[in-house]
Amino acid sequence: MPTERPSFRDRRDRATAKLAARGCAALLLSPGPDLFYLTGYQVFPSERLTCLVLRADGRAMVVCPELEAPRLAESAPDLERVSWSETDDPFALAARLAGDRPGDIAIADQMWAAFVLPLEAALSGRRLRVASEITRELRARKDGYERAALRAASEAADRAYVRVLSEPFAGRTEREIGDCLAGLLRAEGHDEVNFTIVGSGPNGASPHHDTGQRRISPGDTVVLDFGGGRKGYRSDITRTVHVGASIDREQQRVHDVVRRSQEAGYAAAREGATAESVDAASRAVIDEAGYGRFFIHRTGHGIGLEGHEHPYLVRGNRELLEPGMAFSIEPGIYLEGRFGVRIEDIAIIDDDGSVTPLNQADHAFATVA
Ligand code: ZN
Ligand code: ZN
Ligand code: ZN
Repeated sequence: MPTERPSFRDRRDRATAKLAARGCAALLLSPGPDLFYLTGYQVFPSERLTCLVLRADGRAMVVCPELEAPRLAESAPDLERVSWSETDDPFALAARLAGDRPGDIAIADQMWAAFVLPLEAALSGRRLRVASEITRELRARKDGYERAALRAASEAADRAYVRVLSEPFAGRTEREIGDCLAGLLRAEGHDEVNFTIVGSGPNGASPHHDTGQRRISPGDTVVLDFGGGRKGYRSDITRTVHVGASIDREQQRVHDVVRRSQEAGYAAAREGATAESVDAASRAVIDEAGYGRFFIHRTGHGIGLEGHEHPYLVRGNRELLEPGMAFSIEPGIYLEGRFGVRIEDIAIIDDDGSVTPLNQADHAFATVA
């Protein structure tokens, strides 16, 4: 059953065990997804150092600027706080709190160089490693709370998609449809909108097209790829629609191929399958249909607190899929100068080893007005 609040202490205990197992003395995390994962504290990075110090002996402290201490106390009351005032040296403080137990120091993957370099100096000679060596496996296997949060985000994205289908498309710009999608995501319970890609006509052939001023017209295909965050957890869905009743034969054919490719990805995804095997299964359908060289990206990416995280479904990734892993399955075909088609859902490996789509919105080539 989904719980109201994850057990950050359990997560920290697992991270502590990994620190010890990997020969690390401490984990230093500046604001970002790992810090949020282990503490529930969400704060924007700023020029003042905020840093969780989690030691292999299990002690967890947060170095924080004095002015942030009240906010930290409110969102993570169980954590020991060590605040510093404007004239203190927070790097020396963090280094001291890391302790003198021998071992490497793991540092947040996305910590700013402006923090890493003085920390490195303060840690005089200790070897630094990336925090993902500790957190990656933990975050890749979503717990009950996270699975429920991801499902809720995907369901909200599904509802936004269903609602955009009743909007008029012809005569409006991509930007207008993008703004509409953003509003719908918020209306359906997202607290953040991260992207709204609206790739109409030839623009659909650029997978990450910058939604712009192109005016949509009858006969266009439109790639709609959008997502955001709900309580920290991300949604990401793509459907390709068609404007007006008459569908060009090749547009229909390409859509059918992508749809079968996505189904093949689902059929391959299960506990114990390699990440690359899902990519291979999706890719084989597109290759066989003769469009292989127009499928120009990996089949999918993990998702959770970040829009893109491990595991990546890409050739060469032999990582085995496990219960709790959530990822996109999103094959596409991009015909330069003409149009593109992509279909994307978020899927999760269940405890019984099977895959379940978190997105349930219809995959059909929908017609919009
Ligand atoms: Zn993408
Ligand atoms: Zn997407
Ligand atoms: Zn995606």
